[in-house]
Formats: sequence, C-alpha cells, structure tokens
Amino acid sequence: MPSSPKKPLPQPDLIQLTPSGLFCPPGDFYIDAFKPVKLNLVTHGHADHARYGSSHYLSSKSSVPLLKHRLGDISIEGMEWGEKRKIGSTWVSFHPAGHILGSAQIRIEHEDRIWVFTGDFKRGADPSCEPFEIVKCDTLLMESTFGLPIYKWDFNPNDILDWWHSNKEEASVIFSYSLGKAQRLLSLINTDETILVHGAIASIIPLYENAGIKLAKTATLSDFKKADLKNRLILAPPSASGSLWMRRFPEYKSALASGWMAVRGNKRRQGYDKGFVLSDHAHWDELIQTVKDTEARRIITTHGYSDQLAQYLSEQGYKAKSLHTPFEGDEL
Ligand SMILES: [Zn+2]
Repeated sequence: MPSSPKKPLPQPDLIQLTPSGLFCPPGDFYIDAFKPVKLNLVTHGHADHARYGSSHYLSSKSSVPLLKHRLGDISIEGMEWGEKRKIGSTWVSFHPAGHILGSAQIRIEHEDRIWVFTGDFKRGADPSCEPFEIVKCDTLLMESTFGLPIYKWDFNPNDILDWWHSNKEEASVIFSYSLGKAQRLLSLINTDETILVHGAIASIIPLYENAGIKLAKTATLSDFKKADLKNRLILAPPSASGSLWMRRFPEYKSALASGWMAVRGNKRRQGYDKGFVLSDHAHWDELIQTVKDTEARRIITTHGYSDQLAQYLSEQGYKAKSLHTPFEGDEL
C-alpha cells in the first residue's frame, strides 16, 4: 500500500516570546528586549520598550536621539524608514507607527513569510511624529491596548483652549506623559502664549525641535513667580500629580489627557477636574481598520484587551490569538 504524503510541519513563529523578550530565531535578534541581549531592535523610546543593557541597538533614525537621551551611552545605529537590512537569514525594515517621534513597526521577511510587529501605534493625526504606514504582511503582531469597541476618540485641541481660558482665577495643569504626549499637545495647541512645562518634559523638547517639529513656546516654572502662574497653562507628567512640585502653584485646576478618559466615570479620572480623550494608541476602529489594511490573515494581539480583540477577530474568520507580553503601557 502506498504511503500517504506527509503533511508539512507548521513553521515555527518568526517572533517568539522568550524570558528575554520577543525573539526572532532565523535573525537571532530580539525586539524591545526585557533583558540585556546581544542585538536589540527597539520600536520606540518609552520605558517598557526601550531598556538598558543590550550590547547593540538598532532603531529608526529619528528614534536614536530619544533612545540616547533615555538610555545614555549605548551602541546604537539608526535605519532609514523602509531601508532593508539582512540580519541572519531575515530581511528587516522599520516603518512609521505614528505613536511618538521615531516610533516604528518592524517588518521581518523570511523565505516566503512576512511578519510585522506594530509596536505601539495610532492612526490619528499627530503633527509631532511621522504618520503610520500600512505595511502588508501575512502575520500581524499588533498592540491592542484599547481593544474594545467602547474606545473611540476624535480629539479637538480647541477643547483645551476653552478649558484653559475658562479657568480665569487658577492655573490650568494638564498631566500627560513626558515623552510624546506632552510634545503632541505642544504641537496641537494653537497659542502665542508661553506654556510652562515640568523639567521632565522640557528636557525632551529640544530633541523634537531638532527633528523639525514645530512646538508652542515653552518655559520652565523656575522662571516664574508664584503670583505669575495664575491663568497659565502648565504641562506636567502624571508622576508630578500630588507631589511637592505642585506646591508652587497658587490655586489650580487639573486635567488628564488619556485614552482612558473615553469611558465616563473611569476611576482613573478621580482626582482630576477634567479629562481630555487624547491617546497615542489606536482606538477600536483603527485597530480593525489596520487588520484589514495589512491584509494579514493571522493576527497576534498583545497588551491591554488582547484576549477580547483576538476573540472578536476569530469570530470574523481570522486566525487570531493573544500573546501576553510584559509591556506595561505608557497610557495613564
Ligand atoms: Zn509607547
């Protein structure tokens, strides 16, 4: 009796979760490694993706100054958008993710397969970074922080101006993380007035300006007396909320700029006078649109509502699963 032809064995995943990070076996490199590794490809400068201690780093060219600012004296090389480089038996390229300045998706080509890891990404307008690029692939490993249909936003910068100008007797303090969101706000708020910023935000502003991003005029609080702070707009990282740093203000109103503000009554909102629904992550419609645009048939979701999004995509006929990585997220 003739033997039946053997079914080909399934190929191992091009990106695998290991204790040191996301690993690509045929390239022998890591992506956004959690622990020190030999070669670390970094999607962007947020602390949960860019960690110190690897022997060599590769990133997009516009990420290099931010990564050096965050990680100090590291061995790093920046690649142009779309430039293809052979690493091991793979071809690798970086493509804009639209999340913060320099943030990248990483495309990996190996034999007849193409995988894309989005890193953190968004599709909405943001003059402070390169716009998201659609990269066709067969497997898409995507972040899914806001992977529920309740998350949707359409931010209007005039809402901030209106709130600020309605606080006539107080300072107006907006909390947003210091790398990316604060600079995005400074690129969106249309004012000739000087906006005051916390030192953690101020130190990153020159990196954006050197990249040609146009931002509102800023100064740090040390240049101002307490009495001068009335009516001022101030940007600070969430870690400053409730800290000694806040004691320098007279009366103030506070706001948080975050995608989590999309849900009314969200407990994270407690303690703030106002919430602005502004996120540097894709909302539900953008996540679904991205799946369609890439034409991937296999989807791996990670971070946030990854189980829920994978479940939804499975119901729509995709081969989908979630991967529980230790990325902590930058959205507060
Ligand atoms: Zn991020």
